[in-house]
Amino acid sequence: MGFFVARAPLSPPPLKLLCCDTSQCRRQRHGTLSRGGCLCGAVRITTSGPPLRVGICHCRDCRRHHGALFYAAAIFPTQAVHIEGRPHHYKGRHSCGTCGSSVFAQTGDEIEVHLGSLDDTNGLTPEYEVSCRRREDWLPQFTGTACHDRDRGGD
Ligand SMILES: [Zn+2]
Ligand SMILES: [Zn+2]
Repeated sequence: MGFFVARAPLSPPPLKLLCCDTSQCRRQRHGTLSRGGCLCGAVRITTSGPPLRVGICHCRDCRRHHGALFYAAAIFPTQAVHIEGRPHHYKGRHSCGTCGSSVFAQTGDEIEVHLGSLDDTNGLTPEYEVSCRRREDWLPQFTGTACHDRDRGGD
């Protein structure tokens, strides 16, 4: 007679919250585990659970760091992000020492994972933009984002 050994699942089942289509609900539907990394693969990143928020920054520091006119990130609690590799860092901004890709930034107990670093960005739709006073005039308005001149909650 055979017997069956019950095993605890390795990870919780994916969230299935199909209640509505607000940005918060789309965010909640993002996969439980999300992976990404730099261009050469030396730095890998794994996030678990939905991000706290998803936003866009137009500030001068971000523009210089990314060499791009704006960038988008998903912000997670630090404990929800696992990093492999040894990224270089400058003022909390972490990039690969080999290929130079900027992968994430750390502020306090939060980690901003750059959306372009993630393999799957499905469901990660920006809800807000900050430093909009530096926003390029020719950029069209994005749907579903609240624009702040400076920081979130600021002017
Ligand atoms: Zn790299
Ligand atoms: Zn910025």
